[in-house]
Amino acid sequence: MMHPYMTPEHVSLRERVREFALEAIVPVARDLDERAQFPWDTVKALGEMGLLGIPVPRELGGMGLDELSYTLVVEELAKYDASHAITVSAHTNLGTSPIVMFGTEEQKRRFVPPLASGEVLGGFGLTEPGAGSDASATRTRAAKVEGGYLLNGSKIFITHSGVGEIFTVTAVTDPERGAHGITSFIVCKPTVAPDRAAEVGFGHRDDLPFTEGVRSGKKEDKMGWRASDTRELLIEDAFVPDAQRLGDEGRGFINFMRTLDSGRIGVAALSLGLAEGAFEVAVRYANEREQFGQRIWDFQQVQFRLADMATDIQAGKHLTYHAAWLKEKGRPFAKEAAMAKLFCSELAMRATLDAIRLLGGVGYTDEYPVERMMRDAKVCEIGEGTSEVQRLVIARHALMDVLGDSATTSLSRKDEAPSGIHTI
Ligand SMILES: Cc1cc2nc3c(=O)[nH]c(=O)nc-3n(C[C@H](O)[C@H](O)[C@H](O)COP(=O)(O)OP(=O)(O)OC[C@H]3O[C@@H](n4cnc5c(N)ncnc54)[C@H](O)[C@@H]3O)c2cc1C
Repeated sequence: MMHPYMTPEHVSLRERVREFALEAIVPVARDLDERAQFPWDTVKALGEMGLLGIPVPRELGGMGLDELSYTLVVEELAKYDASHAITVSAHTNLGTSPIVMFGTEEQKRRFVPPLASGEVLGGFGLTEPGAGSDASATRTRAAKVEGGYLLNGSKIFITHSGVGEIFTVTAVTDPERGAHGITSFIVCKPTVAPDRAAEVGFGHRDDLPFTEGVRSGKKEDKMGWRASDTRELLIEDAFVPDAQRLGDEGRGFINFMRTLDSGRIGVAALSLGLAEGAFEVAVRYANEREQFGQRIWDFQQVQFRLADMATDIQAGKHLTYHAAWLKEKGRPFAKEAAMAKLFCSELAMRATLDAIRLLGGVGYTDEYPVERMMRDAKVCEIGEGTSEVQRLVIARHALMDVLGDSATTSLSRKDEAPSGIHTI
């Protein structure tokens, strides 16, 4: 059925993604998850379909489509495999969009086309061992030297740190100024899998300005998103020229908060896709499985559970598409993005657990994808701000909505950041 937010172009884009997912991703998803292997071939194909640069302007190598197109692609991929969905989402939102939003013309011309056209993958290095929810506690230091900066520090849990080549990282340029002393930089490192990249013909560009001293560290052995690449990003005496400072000194914090606001729409879409994927499996199974001489669907308890799932999914769609619509129209969307991310990530967890419940024993095995979906759902409540952090952001907006300007006196100084709290 046509959704009021969607044009026929949106619907046909979603169809194209669904066909590709059914044909190319579904047959390999279980194996990739089991072996924690990055899906080189299918991600290359996603790039060839233009899906690694959906909202990026055409003149920078992207598809130049709107926010809802991007949201629908992430949602659709996640119905079949969340690792592919987070690869598109992290690359687009965390890896590419900071350069599109805050880069100089020269930076955009140099770094965005290889990312948007899907030649190499990008990422975003914010989280550190001592700076998670409190990202203002960043310790990575950028000392000013002639012609640039010398960076030292380490980032953890960085999506694409191994397979990717272009990164935006944050570092402290002025330790006296707290969050206002954080600055962003563009750094490049070669992929950890040059042979695989050469074989597949994707993932490496010889002509990038590789930053000596930047390399990826330990690969995480994760519960979910196992085919997505997550590693440390280590930065040791890395000279970064002035030309690769992204935005003014001291703007790093405010800029990454804006990046995360939009990133949350992507995580909401991914979560929604997981919930829908699990729901579809559960409905089909309930319609086929018989116990006590009838389909389990015929038990009213089963119908009620499915009805609740369907209703929550519909609510999640409205929250997520509305946040995407606000962003597209250039209106404030931070509160709505946080609400969509909070609601949909918790929905993904509930829906995948309910799907396992409805499938009984087989739901607990890898015969059906719902156990993988449940493992994939958990991290949606953690990445790009935990559920607790989303509630803090929403609560701050609620105070401002009700009290107006006088709300600022009720908020502590720490809360005065754009998204309400110093956090990823
Ligand atoms: C698979 C994966 C991929 C990731 N990709 C990236 C990436 O590409 N780039 C990047 O920079 N980071 C990335 N991250 C990091 C992620 O954003 C952080 O893990 C997340 O922000 C939480 O930080 P933390 O792990 O340090 O948890 P902590 O901040 O230590 O939180 C621990 C617990 O304390 C709670 N808590 C913390 N502060 C508060 C508070 N003020 N009020 C109430 N409760 C609070 C949290 O909600 C949580 O329950 C990734 C993480 C994972 C797992």
